[in-house]
Amino acid sequence: MSSTGRDRAYGATGGNRLLDRVLAGTPPEQSPVRHVEHLAERPARYGEWPDWAPERLVAALRARGTERPWIHQLQAAELAHSGENVVVATGTASGKSLAYQLPVLTRLDLDSRATALYVSPTKALGTDQLRSVAGLDLPGIRPATYDGDTPGTERDWVRAHARWVFSNPDMLHHGVLPRHSRWARFFRNLSYIVVDECHTYRGVFGSHIALLLRRLRRVAEHYGAAPVFVLASATVAAPAELGGTLTGRTCHAVTEDGSPRGGRTMALWEPPLLEEVTGENGAPVRRSAGAETSRIMSDLVIESARCLAFVRSRTGAELAALGAQRSLREVAPELVNRVAAYRGGYLPEQRRELERALHSGELRALATTSALELGVDISGLDAVVIAGYPGTLASLWQQAGRAGREGDGALVVFVARDDPLDTYLAHNPGAVFDRPVEATVLDPGNPHLLRPHLACAAAELPLDERALEEFGGETARESVARLTEAGELRARRNGWYWTARQPPHRSVELRGSGGQQTAVVESDSGRLLGTVDPESAHGLVHPGAVYLHQGESFVVDELDLDEGIALVHAEDPEWNTSPREETDIAVLRTQRQRRTSHGLSINLGEVEVTSRVTGYLRRMPSGEVLDQLPLDLPERTLSTRAVWYSLDEELLVSSAPGGAGLDPARIPGALHAAEHAAIGLLPLFATCDRWDIGGVSTALHPNTGEPTVFVHDGHPGGAGFADRGFAALFPWLAATREAIVACDCSAGCPSCVQSPKCGNGNEPLDKAGAVAVLDVLLAERTDVAPA
Ligand SMILES: [Zn+2]
Ligand SMILES: [Zn+2]
Repeated sequence: MSSTGRDRAYGATGGNRLLDRVLAGTPPEQSPVRHVEHLAERPARYGEWPDWAPERLVAALRARGTERPWIHQLQAAELAHSGENVVVATGTASGKSLAYQLPVLTRLDLDSRATALYVSPTKALGTDQLRSVAGLDLPGIRPATYDGDTPGTERDWVRAHARWVFSNPDMLHHGVLPRHSRWARFFRNLSYIVVDECHTYRGVFGSHIALLLRRLRRVAEHYGAAPVFVLASATVAAPAELGGTLTGRTCHAVTEDGSPRGGRTMALWEPPLLEEVTGENGAPVRRSAGAETSRIMSDLVIESARCLAFVRSRTGAELAALGAQRSLREVAPELVNRVAAYRGGYLPEQRRELERALHSGELRALATTSALELGVDISGLDAVVIAGYPGTLASLWQQAGRAGREGDGALVVFVARDDPLDTYLAHNPGAVFDRPVEATVLDPGNPHLLRPHLACAAAELPLDERALEEFGGETARESVARLTEAGELRARRNGWYWTARQPPHRSVELRGSGGQQTAVVESDSGRLLGTVDPESAHGLVHPGAVYLHQGESFVVDELDLDEGIALVHAEDPEWNTSPREETDIAVLRTQRQRRTSHGLSINLGEVEVTSRVTGYLRRMPSGEVLDQLPLDLPERTLSTRAVWYSLDEELLVSSAPGGAGLDPARIPGALHAAEHAAIGLLPLFATCDRWDIGGVSTALHPNTGEPTVFVHDGHPGGAGFADRGFAALFPWLAATREAIVACDCSAGCPSCVQSPKCGNGNEPLDKAGAVAVLDVLLAERTDVAPA
C-alpha cells in the first residue's frame, strides 16, 4: 500500500477515518487496499451576473439560491450569448444547467417569439430540467416536455405554443423531424439547441446522434433559423473535438470548474483470491466486487456515514443491498432498514423522496446502477463505493463526485472486479489520478449508419450538394449513389428525393447498430422485452441463454432467425450463460501500416469477420463452470474495421536479445492471452466497452503469412475504436503488459488474461508467453516508421 499526499493540508481527515474503520481488524499484510490518494479541497470561484441578463431572470435565480454564478457557468453563458457554439465539460454537481439556462432564458425573455430545444439521453433527466426551468416561474417561457409519454392533446399545444421544448433523440427522430412542417413555428424561431450529458453519446449510439443533430440543424436552417448549440458534458478529454464531431460545427470548450469540492480520500481496493473455489480451466477466483461492496457498505452504515454504492447491474445492486442488510442483521439489527437498492424507473416524486432520505441520513446506504449518474441530485455524501470500473474515467469521476463534504472530507472506494482493466487500475494509480480522461469516440462517417440517416434526411427535405458536404462529403456522395442505385432515392435537377410513400424513419434504430434487430418476446404474455443487434443475437439470445432485462431474468426457448424473434420465459436459474464461438478474420483493405526493421508490422484497415456460435457454457456466479452445451447456428459475417499487428515468427522463437524465446508450441497461447488482455484494456484509451470490440489471434494468418493479433470493432463499419487503438497502440500495449504482470495468479485468471466472452473456452492461454510477446512488441516502439 502506498500513499501520496497531494494536499494533506486540507480536510482529508473524515475520509481517512472512515477508511480506517472499514479496514479495522484486517492485518496489514492482508489489506486489500493497493493505494490511497488524497484529493484536495477546492474552493469556489465566482463571477458576476452578466449585464445582458434580464433583471427578473437574475432575481429568480437568486431567489432559487444562486447568489452569483461560478466562473465556468459565466464563461459558457457568455460564449453562447455571443452566438458561439459551446461545450461545458466540468464535474458532477457543478451546475452545468445554469450555463445554458442563463443565455437561453435571456433570449426567450427578450424575444417573445424565440424558441429553444433541450435534448437529453433519458426522460428522467429531461423532466428534472423542465421542473428546474418551470420553477423559476418566468412569464411567457412556456416550457413543455415532448416525449413518448406526452398525450396527444398536449402535443398539439406544444407544437403551437411551447417556447422551450424538452425532448430526447428518439422523439426527435420518430416524432418531430418526419413531420417538421407541423413544427414550422418552432423551427423558424429556434435560437438554441441544448444537448445535455453529451458524453453519453459515444460509439454507435453517438454516431447516430451526430447524424441526427445534422438533420435537425438542416431542418432548422430550412426555416431560416441558425440555432446555437450549448452542450453539457462530464469531464472528458478533448471536449471541443467531441462537440465538433457531434454537431458538425466548431465548438468552444469551457473546462475550468469553479464549483467548490470537499477534500476526499480515495482508496483502490483489490478483493483477495479465494482459496476454496476454482473457475474455468482451474483458474483462481477472487472474492466478488459485489460481496466486498456489501461489507464496506455495512461498515459505513455502522459509522453513521451516508453512502452510495455504484454496482454494474440492477440485480447486482439488489444483491449488494441484501448482503449489507444481512451483515447488519447480525451486528446492528436496528440499522437494517437504513440500506436500500435503487431499482430505477422511479417516478420523479419517488426519486425526490429518495434524495431527501439520503441527504437527511434517514437512509444511510443506497446501492444503485449507473442510472443514478444522470439527473439525480445527490451529492455531498460521506462515502461512495464504486464496485467495478464503470467503463470510463469520466463516469468514475462522475460517480466519485457524489462524495465530498465541505470542510470534513469524504471517502471514495474503488473495488476492482476480476477483469484485466480493473486489475490494471488497482495497481496503477497513475492511470486513475494522473491521466487525463479518455476521448469520447464516435464516427458519424460510418457508411452503415450514414446511409439510413441520409435516407431519412432526404425524406425530410431533398438532399442537395451542400447537404452532402455537411454529411461528410465523399462518403455521403457514395452513400447517396448507393441509395439511388437501389431505387430509394431519385436524382432530380435540384437534388435527391425520397421515393417511397412511407418515410424510412421507423427502420432506423438509434440505439442499434443499423441491421435487422431481433425482438425478445415473452411467450406467455406476448410482451416485447427489448431488441438485440444482429451482431449479438446469436451470442445473447440463443436457445438456453439466460437473458437479463431490467434486472429480471429470462431463459430463451427459441430463436427464430428468419422472423427475427427470440421467445423467452421468466426464469431465474442459479447460473448465467456465455456463448462459445468460432471466428475467422480476413483483411479486405489495409489503410495504414507501420513497419519496423525487425519485422513488426502494425496495421489499420477493413476486415471481414466470419463467426459461428457453436455452444454455450453454464457458469455459477462464483465463476465455477457447470457444463458446456452444443448449439447449431448458422455462420454470419461482419464487415468492420480492425487494428492488427503481425510479427516475424523468428522474433518470437529467438532467444537472442530482442526475441521472445518462445517454444513454437507456446505461440498460439501467448498470442491469445495477449489478445484477451488487450481487448480488456482498450477501454482505457477509447470510450468503448469490451463488448463493443472483438479479437482474433492466430499463429499463422493467411493474409499476413505471420503470427497475427487482430482487435476489431464489433459493429458493421466500426465506431472508431480500432482507429483509436491504432493511434494509441504502444501506450495501449504497455498498459496491457502491466495489467498481466500485476495480477498475482500463476497461470492466468479473469483478472488478467481470461475473457468472459472468449469463443474458445479460454484455451489455449499462456500468461507468461503473453508478457514475452508484449515485451518484444514494446521493444520495437522506438523503431516504428510510418510507411
Ligand atoms: Zn490473473
Ligand atoms: Zn479467446
